[in-house]
Amino acid sequence: MPELIPVLSKEDIHKRVSVVARKISSDYRNHELVVLGVLKGAFIFLSDLVRHLTIPVKVDFIRLSSYGSGTVSSGKIKLTQKIEIDLKNKDVLIVEDIVDTGLTLAYLVEYLNSFDPKSVKICTLLDKYERRKADIKIDYTCHVIHEGFLVGYGLDYAEKYRNLPGIYHLQLNSEERP
Ligand code: 5GP
Repeated sequence: MPELIPVLSKEDIHKRVSVVARKISSDYRNHELVVLGVLKGAFIFLSDLVRHLTIPVKVDFIRLSSYGSGTVSSGKIKLTQKIEIDLKNKDVLIVEDIVDTGLTLAYLVEYLNSFDPKSVKICTLLDKYERRKADIKIDYTCHVIHEGFLVGYGLDYAEKYRNLPGIYHLQLNSEERP
């Protein structure tokens, strides 16, 4: 059985999400903000984050896939669900679960810029910097980590563990590794 080592409790996450939401609400006062969640991993984070925001927002989702069922990026990014809201002249805030190499977000920012938004910023629950390859600017982060494979609070391993209320470091033994 894989071992789950606690990283952030439900209470830790709640505190961090509310701090980030306060900052976003203040930065986007008097703006029309489109919050764009990256499926599937960001669905829980986004739903908590928007409930803490004190500004009016529109919400949409995009679905990108870069990982198969393992823990190592395939390096290929595919758009599997399109945006429905018109982004022209809008302030867009991408909400991501975790930034690893940064390749997914570099691709997404470039894609979003093709719709002529007023601005595009990035908010991530977790910033995992050890394997960063793309030079991207993360504007809002709840928690920074060095390495490891994390699950829970929306993040999965082979579609499991998304429903855990906390965040855990998943330790796989050699037979379980892909
Ligand atoms: P990147 O393109 O930055 O390398 O990868 C971003 C995506 O990879 C995330 O949105 C997430 O789906 C997946 N990912 C990267 N690291 C982790 C991790 O530690 N745990 C989980 N569950 N997914 C991860």
